[in-house]
Amino acid sequence: MSKSRRPATILAHAGRDPGANHGMVNPPVYHTSTVIWPTVAAMDAAHTGFEHGQYSYGRVGTPTSEAFEDVVTALEGGYGSIAVSSGLAAVNVAMTAFVKAGDHVLVTDSVYGPGRRYGDAVLSRFGVQVEYYDPLIGAGIEALFRDNTRLVYLESPGSLTFEVQDVPAITAAARAQGIVSILDNTWATPLYFDAFGHGVDVTVHAATKYMVGHSDAMMGIVGAREKSVWSQLKTFAVQAGHCAGPDDLYLAQRGLRTMGVRLRQHQENGLEVARWLQARPEVSRVLHPALPQDPGHTTWKRDFTGASGLFSFVLKPAAKAQVDAMLDGMELFQMGASWGGYESLITPIQPEKIRTATHWQAEGPGIRLHVGLEDTGDLIADLEAGFDRLRAGA
Ligand SMILES: *Cc1c(COP(=O)(O)O)cnc(C)c1O
Repeated sequence: MSKSRRPATILAHAGRDPGANHGMVNPPVYHTSTVIWPTVAAMDAAHTGFEHGQYSYGRVGTPTSEAFEDVVTALEGGYGSIAVSSGLAAVNVAMTAFVKAGDHVLVTDSVYGPGRRYGDAVLSRFGVQVEYYDPLIGAGIEALFRDNTRLVYLESPGSLTFEVQDVPAITAAARAQGIVSILDNTWATPLYFDAFGHGVDVTVHAATKYMVGHSDAMMGIVGAREKSVWSQLKTFAVQAGHCAGPDDLYLAQRGLRTMGVRLRQHQENGLEVARWLQARPEVSRVLHPALPQDPGHTTWKRDFTGASGLFSFVLKPAAKAQVDAMLDGMELFQMGASWGGYESLITPIQPEKIRTATHWQAEGPGIRLHVGLEDTGDLIADLEAGFDRLRAGA
């Protein structure tokens, strides 16, 4: 797909080739483990690398994994992508591919919880030192670099607390020292944050969220800005056995076709609910970087081109029983992990329990919302009834 195409066009056209598929608009789904070759020469040729079109085994890559990867690569403007079975698998590939025993890695304190556990429980077991840093450190990250620092891991905004990181400042400092920078870009997707344009080397996406978009499949994808970085990631992914199933890959690439319009609606609905929450007497503050009052707003406005439907808010002091009463009775905002589907979700958050480099200070309990594609009047009524239960429980 031509580099000059705009994102909406890429979403509609990349990763499919009707001319090669009997005129069918969508690419076929290849269910395969074994790839067979007519000659030894053809078999040998398939094993010289992992480039697209070079098929050696179902686990290593198929036209179906490429159909999804090609759309994401075209959107990000990088060299290549690698689809894996979940967002956490993508975190695993990105964090592991570059490190060896004795290396030091810096991870934002706002990182997605299971990613933190991977660093603490697994990487550390193999002699990698994992250190957490203040998400708002900016260019100050340089003071934390050691001779053995190999990578810096970012997530912006953090998917519980929504601090917006100074990505260009952090990636410029890392680049100057030859340190690889990795960004979890799940919240913004490639549509609302241009990771490679802001100096990132490797992107991680929980495609389970907005790319799949319908809460019906798990998927992850890692993107690389340059060929050498892609090769290192792909080699590790192949060695470790990472791959994704064909039907889930198909759902992910189908989800991408409508991601642009869905995200616009998530953004609009999310902002409407966020503004309504700001005016509520039960709410202390809303953590949404697209609101002018948010501490991350200036950086968000400088670097991002949109906001998705996920944000949090902090209540005024309230007892656990009050918050439980609010959450237990919700009808449209359902309680559950994940986000990025068409439906609204609500979850209590406790960032103070997981942070180590910074202290999370909040006036009251925290709640995270994923605002879905429902009617916002209905969503607001659901929250309003929730606040009635909260007050009644006082
Ligand atoms: C959900 C999520 C992940 C992990 O994705 P799964 O597909 O659930 O494994 C990684 N990073 C962020 C920011 C997420 O929200």
